[in-house]
Amino acid sequence: MKVLLAENAGFCFGVKLAVDEAIKTQNKYNKKIYTLGPLIHNSDVVNYLEENNIYAIDITDVDTLNEGDVILIRSHGVSKKVFDYLTDKGLIVINATCPFVTNIQKKVNKFSNEGYKIVILGDENHPEVIGINGWCNDSAIITKDGSFNEKLSGKVCVVSQTTEKEENWDKTINNLSINTYDDLKSFNTICAATEESQKSVYELSKKVDFMVVVGGKHSSNTTKLYEIAKKNCENTIHIENAKEISKDILKDKDIKTIGVTAGASTPDWIIKEVINIMEGF
Ligand code: SF4
Repeated sequence: MKVLLAENAGFCFGVKLAVDEAIKTQNKYNKKIYTLGPLIHNSDVVNYLEENNIYAIDITDVDTLNEGDVILIRSHGVSKKVFDYLTDKGLIVINATCPFVTNIQKKVNKFSNEGYKIVILGDENHPEVIGINGWCNDSAIITKDGSFNEKLSGKVCVVSQTTEKEENWDKTINNLSINTYDDLKSFNTICAATEESQKSVYELSKKVDFMVVVGGKHSSNTTKLYEIAKKNCENTIHIENAKEISKDILKDKDIKTIGVTAGASTPDWIIKEVINIMEGF
């Protein structure tokens, strides 16, 4: 049995940056460090961070922190309101927002100030989208698949959650183009890392008999990789780590090649463990 690893599997640039920043910050201050929400959607990495005295905290618990405590903003970013709230509390705020997300926040802020109606393609409950919306006073129209309940006009600026699928972006633009505007600014802000990993899993899943997608169960980019793989390869599973693999998953199946990919929050060590186990079968 052959095991093939998709290109661009695992940690993306932004997540790597946030994890490195957290460790660096811990070393600098040498005390308990907080992250606003789990730094990434991967419980193994969360455990690793806790071993290094880095703990996730919810926004509702920020009140329990004291002046001078250190809090790190994760790669998803936060709204302007949250950012100001943390700074006003006298906390040391380390901003590990992915630069690609910061770029979206800046665009949304700029065009909203210039009178544009902001449209975000994405999941309204995802922290990245909540954060972006917070840079235009929570006034954006959020569409999860490019469909709209209302007709838009005037000046419109559209951006996307970084982990969106290209087909949803195309649908959004198609649906928007039936309207008439004074001005339409569209920024395809789907992250290249996302696009590349989605392309690789699309290609790989066409070639293999079985696909393993590794990543947190709440990770939106891992879920999208799973959905793409599943379309091409019926035998696709989504696991969080190697412990979830049992030999039974291949039972009664004629498997010659297995493809492996991983979401942007999956560290290398977990991918290696999965590959080792699959090769052992
Ligand atoms: S997927 Fe892209 S935008 Fe999101 S954290 Fe990674 S590099 Fe940044």
